Amino acid sequence: MLRSPAAALLRRLAPRLTGCSGGAGSSTRQSLPPYISSSSSFLARFSSTPTSPPPPSSVGARDDEAEDDKLQGSSSDSGARLSISVDRAGLYSPPEHSHEPSSDSDLVKHLKSIIKFRSGPISIAEYMEEVLTNPQSGYYMNRDVFGESGDFITSPEVSQMFGELIGVWAMCLWEQMGKPEKVNLIELGPGRGTLLADLLRGSAKFVNFTKALNINLVECSPTLQKVQYNTLKCEDESVGDEKRTVSKLCGAPVYWHASLVQVPSGFPTIIVAHEFFDALPIHQFQKGSRGWCEKMVDLAGDSSFRFVLSPQPTASLIFLSKRCQWASAEELEKVEQIEVCPKAMEITEQIADRISSDGGGALIIDYGKNGIVSDSLQAIRKHKFVHILDDPGSADLSAYVDFAAIKHSAMEASDDISVHGPMTQSQLLGSLGINFRVEALMQNCDEKQAESLRTGYWRLVGDGEAPFWEGPDDQTPIGMGSRYLAMAIVNKKQGSPVPF
Ligand code: SAH
Repeated sequence: MLRSPAAALLRRLAPRLTGCSGGAGSSTRQSLPPYISSSSSFLARFSSTPTSPPPPSSVGARDDEAEDDKLQGSSSDSGARLSISVDRAGLYSPPEHSHEPSSDSDLVKHLKSIIKFRSGPISIAEYMEEVLTNPQSGYYMNRDVFGESGDFITSPEVSQMFGELIGVWAMCLWEQMGKPEKVNLIELGPGRGTLLADLLRGSAKFVNFTKALNINLVECSPTLQKVQYNTLKCEDESVGDEKRTVSKLCGAPVYWHASLVQVPSGFPTIIVAHEFFDALPIHQFQKGSRGWCEKMVDLAGDSSFRFVLSPQPTASLIFLSKRCQWASAEELEKVEQIEVCPKAMEITEQIADRISSDGGGALIIDYGKNGIVSDSLQAIRKHKFVHILDDPGSADLSAYVDFAAIKHSAMEASDDISVHGPMTQSQLLGSLGINFRVEALMQNCDEKQAESLRTGYWRLVGDGEAPFWEGPDDQTPIGMGSRYLAMAIVNKKQGSPVPF
C-alpha cells in the first residue's frame, strides 16, 4: 500500500487525468508491474489478436482540440510513437560493430587537432563531450536525432502516456509541497519537448497547478530549443517593455538555459530528467598490471582514432577514488573496468543544493544500474550499434547511469534531502496509473490506434519481447519496463514522494 496523504491524492489524480471513475487495474499497486495484473480488463483486450502495425502516418495525428482521452500524435514526427526503433537501453547486448572509416568532418578535424596539439591522447569524457555537444558540430547541436527518421527512440516519443504520468508525479509532489503559488518546473535535456507537452496537456484540468508553473528548459542545443518551442506551442508576448515566451498549452512562461545553475532559484522546484544523465561524459578506467589506468582516445599511425591506456596516472583518477569509496570491497573485486561520470555527480550536487534551499524534488529516469557500471559506453546510428570511434558526431554516444553514485552525490551534498529508489520504470508507471490511462485511451480509438497503444504500453512497462506480437520479427516491441530505472531526490520536508 502507498503511504502518506499523497497516496490518497494519487488515487484521485490518475482517474481524473484519464477521465475514468475507476479501473480494473489498481493504479496504486506498487509491487506488481501492471502488465501481469490478471484482473485488468485491459489485459483482456491486450491479449486479443493484434493486427499488423499501422503505417506511421495513419494513426495518432495530433488534434489540438482533442479531449483528454484521445490519442495524441507526436508534434514533430507523428509516426515516431508508433515506430519500432532502438531505445538506448539495449546496451546489454551489443551486436557487431561496423567499422566504417571516419570521414574528415569538421568535428573529426577538430578532435584530431586537439590530440595533435596536446601531443597525446584525450580522455573518453573529453571525446564524448566534444562529439555530443561541441557548439559547432556536436551530435545534438544541429539536428533532431529522435524517432524513426533519427537514431533512437525515447519513452516520451513512444507514447503520450509517459509524459502524462510524469505529470501525475509532478502534481502529487506539488500537493505534498503545499500547493505553492509559484513553482519552477525544470526539465533537463528535453529533446523534442514531447514529455513536457504531454505533461501540460494531461494536467490542463488542474488549473491551480498549471497556473503556478514557470517552465525552465535546460538545453544545450539551439536546434532542439527551436523544436521545443514549437512542440510547446510557444508564442512571444510583450508585457509593457518586457518580452516573454509563453506556452499556449497552459499559459505558463517558458525560459531556456544552457545549464541548471543558470535557472533562477528562489521558487519551489520540480525537476525532471529523462535520458539526460546517460548523455553526460564518462571516464573509463581499466585495471592492469600497473594498477588502474585511464582509457583514452589517441591517433594511430594512419591518422585514425584508436583507444590507448594512459601510461601514467591521470588527474581524473581522483573521480575513480571518489567512486570507489562508495563501493564495497566485494563489488570492487569483481570489476576490471569502471566508468565514472563526474558531470553526473556535479549536476546531482546542484540538484540537491537547489532542492534543499528552494524545496521540491527531482525525478531522474534513465537506463542504468544501482551500482558500479563497468563497460557500457555505446554508439547508435540509425537504430544500429556502431563503433564508438566511427565517424564521431554522426552517432549518439551514451552510457549506463550509475544510480548508486547519484544517490551518494546527492546525500553528500545536503542533509536536507532524501533519496528514493531506484525502482523500475514499470513499477513507477504502474503505480502512477498507466492501466487507468491505457483503458481510457482504449475507449476512444480505432483498431489501428489500439494496436499502437498495445505496443506503446508494452514498450513502456513490458519486460523483453512482446508475447502478443505477430508482425515482422525484427520489429518486435521490446519492453523498457525493467531496463529503465527511476530515482527521486526530494526535500525532507515533503516526506516520501509518490510512489516510492
Ligand atoms: N529527454 C528527452 C531527450 C533525451 S536526449 C527524451 O526523453 O526524449 C538528451 C537531451 O539532453 C537532448 O535534448 C540533448 O540536447 C540534451 N543534452 C545533452 N547534453 C546536455 C548538456 N550537457 N547540457 C544541456 N543539455 C544537454
